[in-house]
Amino acid sequence: MTTLFISDLHIEADRPEIGEQFLDFLDEEAADAEALYILGDFFEYWVGDDDPDEYYASIKRSLRAFSDSGVPVYFMHGNRDFMIGQQFAAETGVTILPDPCPIELYGKSVLLSHGDAMCTDDVEYQQMRAMTRNPEWQAMMLEKPLEERLAIAQHARAHSQERNKTLSESIVDVNPDAVKKTISEHGVEILLHGHTHRPGIHGVEVDDRFAKRVVLGDWYDQGSVVSWDEDGLELSPIPRQADPSESGTGDPAP
Ligand code: MN
Repeated sequence: MTTLFISDLHIEADRPEIGEQFLDFLDEEAADAEALYILGDFFEYWVGDDDPDEYYASIKRSLRAFSDSGVPVYFMHGNRDFMIGQQFAAETGVTILPDPCPIELYGKSVLLSHGDAMCTDDVEYQQMRAMTRNPEWQAMMLEKPLEERLAIAQHARAHSQERNKTLSESIVDVNPDAVKKTISEHGVEILLHGHTHRPGIHGVEVDDRFAKRVVLGDWYDQGSVVSWDEDGLELSPIPRQADPSESGTGDPAP
């Protein structure tokens, strides 16, 4: 049996090819998985579980059918979909995990995270993160009319895209010391995260031993998955058929 990890799909109606590939993934690779972990930025944006958007509703129905088929689905918030709440969990059957979240997997100690909390060089982003993850801020947000929340989300996405153009590569990546601190604090062998859209497997020397940092890729142009079983883990792209109608909505940003 295989446990699967994905993140950073950034599903939205304007990029239907991503949602289609995810549904194919549920039907194929994931159909007989031991569990599926979604480590954040599943959706491009999420303004509240009360959003009646029909496209999002169709994705929720597919998740429901998948979790009803007997595969446990675990969900961690990303920086795009941190407003996903218990209503979404009840509707889809997913279990929401805290970030970070330690698990034991096939005899290995693993820490799961979205990854943005370790991008400590981006001070402005961390301040915004602290604000928007505050339950009082979220409650205040959810009292606003849906239209206003959608406008705020649209503005935030545009701001993030503009800002990422001006930031250096290293600032938007994880900070090496923050990675070491996170691994050391939790005493794990493997740290698995997404967010940076830089898939790879890295050795990290921490506390006089070697740990591993595994980074999932985004789904903008192809899928990305970590498949893990008794024999170990594998990070793989999932190719997507080129679609001539493929739409772009600007530079992808984490
Ligand atoms: Mn992210």
